[in-house]
Amino acid sequence: MRAVNLPQITAEQAENEPAADRIQFPPTRAYPQNRATITAVYDGFHVQFELFDTGVGKVEQFIGTLQERGYTPAPVAAPARQQNGTPAAATNGHAHCPDHPDRTLKPMKFADKAGHTLMCTARRDDGEYCLFRA
Ligand SMILES: [Zn+2]
Repeated sequence: MRAVNLPQITAEQAENEPAADRIQFPPTRAYPQNRATITAVYDGFHVQFELFDTGVGKVEQFIGTLQERGYTPAPVAAPARQQNGTPAAATNGHAHCPDHPDRTLKPMKFADKAGHTLMCTARRDDGEYCLFRA
């Protein structure tokens, strides 16, 4: 490609250029206005697609294309636990032991195997600690 030296024009002259003569560029966006993330499975492989600045119709069309090509919806993953160990149940303040509803459940230092992070601190009638976890 050969560089062509164009005569310099003033900003005023540029503003007065007819709109039809101007080269149009799509406006650049610092952040996309919307984003659609589609996770699908193809032959056992999980594939994630991200569509930016795409209308709902286009997203649906895209999903239709995936289905035509043999992609299947990915199973919905379980909600991730918070990193700091604060259980999701504690944030709503409604987790209570069914046997000791007046007790405030105590946060556990580590989650147990079932993923529980709150424990009941009451003692049962037989003197043993309540085993309720939430
Ligand atoms: Zn209890």
